[in-house]
Amino acid sequence: ADSGSNPHVVLLPSPGIGHLIPFVELAKRLALHHNLSVTIITFSNFTSHIHHAILSALPAGVSAVSLPPVPLDDLPATTDGISRISVMISRSIPSVREALRHIRDTTPRVAAFIIDLFCGDTLPIAEELRFPQFIFFTSSLFCLSMFLHLPTLHDSPEKANLLRLPGCLPLQATLISDMSMSDHGLSYMLHHSRNHDRVDGIMVNSFEAMEGGAAGFLRDRGEGKPPVVPVGPLVNCDADSAGSDRDESCIEWLDRQPDRSVLFVAFGSWGSLSLEQAGELAVGLEMSGQRFLWVIRKPGDDEGGDYFSINHADDLLGFLPQGFLERTKEKGMVVPFWVPQAKILAHAAVGGFLSHCGWNSCLESIVNGVPMIAWPLNAEQPMNALMLTEMKVALRAGGSSADGKVRKEEIAGVVRKLIEGEEGKDARRRMREVQETAVKAVSSGESSDVALAVMVNSWKSRADN
Ligand code: UDP
Repeated sequence: ADSGSNPHVVLLPSPGIGHLIPFVELAKRLALHHNLSVTIITFSNFTSHIHHAILSALPAGVSAVSLPPVPLDDLPATTDGISRISVMISRSIPSVREALRHIRDTTPRVAAFIIDLFCGDTLPIAEELRFPQFIFFTSSLFCLSMFLHLPTLHDSPEKANLLRLPGCLPLQATLISDMSMSDHGLSYMLHHSRNHDRVDGIMVNSFEAMEGGAAGFLRDRGEGKPPVVPVGPLVNCDADSAGSDRDESCIEWLDRQPDRSVLFVAFGSWGSLSLEQAGELAVGLEMSGQRFLWVIRKPGDDEGGDYFSINHADDLLGFLPQGFLERTKEKGMVVPFWVPQAKILAHAAVGGFLSHCGWNSCLESIVNGVPMIAWPLNAEQPMNALMLTEMKVALRAGGSSADGKVRKEEIAGVVRKLIEGEEGKDARRRMREVQETAVKAVSSGESSDVALAVMVNSWKSRADN
């Protein structure tokens, strides 16, 4: 097709690397498989050099526009993350409008404006400009089901402990209140959830074979509700991992390790453990006697991490037990701050992934057939962990103690089980089966590929009229 006549698509992810990465993958797919031109608009509050590295590696046909930062210093220090992001986005509306007008005036017809879950306040601008509106949901169908159900749940007088969403695993209601962080956070979540009913369609970074039940239910929720289509897994599986401006010493180290012998340990782009828990993990890894590659964030006072400032901190290794690096140097490698994760998970030496279960990490582990140890920290990670453990592709770290802490003996035990035990073998075998279905879903003529193609064709034909 002549790309000159093909329509243009505008993507607006909310801040955070876990949102940016799948949006970039969607953009690549639209440009490379569907010959569309794409602009990714990004906010510049809460970014880091990693964002810049990711955005500087976009393929031809995809460009990026960065909005000016908005002041947020008037927000109380106690403002929860969802409120902070929501305020940031609503204060950015004038600059989003300006950017969208500029795109309308300088590119072929805009056939789709695709936002993510927190950006619904920008929809009226797209309405003004008559851009068809879509959401790309960067987590699971399970999570989307919960999210779409929030207003009903909130209005219902009955508060059950266990939430049963059609086609989904039963879900502890407490997980939802943990996720919204505060009353403000919850009211923003409700607001964003309601915005999901205003769009023309919702794409989800998941696939039928993994979440058929939820996919079936969400596909057609009834009159006036936008269709929900799984189009994933869209993950980075190029040789070049996200933001791989960093040195490759960990890949060289992996090259020297036996196949499937190394546990990769990482908690996502912003997650970190408490000081105490990080120390316990160090001892547990050492006790396990297994090989490990651990990417380390600065431990915090609490479990969780800092979503809003993930830049380098000095002395990342200072908390490790005395002599740890020296004693484990034959078997372990510790990398401060950031690693090329997609490349690591594709490496033959990696035999398991101890992960916080961010959805991108789950999908990356799946497409590489790497069994996991689930150690969820916050956001929707406990839901992802639940799904993976139910599918028996992940073992669970801890989860038994009342205080939520994971003890060194448990860590050592579960690591041994995964890397050299029977349970690990089973998890690997099952993960390979899921891997096959995941890879198949996005290949030509299969479920996710077809779903995206149908959507793109509707944009193209609308743009022709
Ligand atoms: N990532 C990476 N190197 C790191 C940490 C993270 O490349 O050291 C990438 C990872 O591959 C994934 C994304 O950052 O694509 C993190 O997204 P995820 O949904 O797993 O977790 P989040 O960071 O949103 O909690």
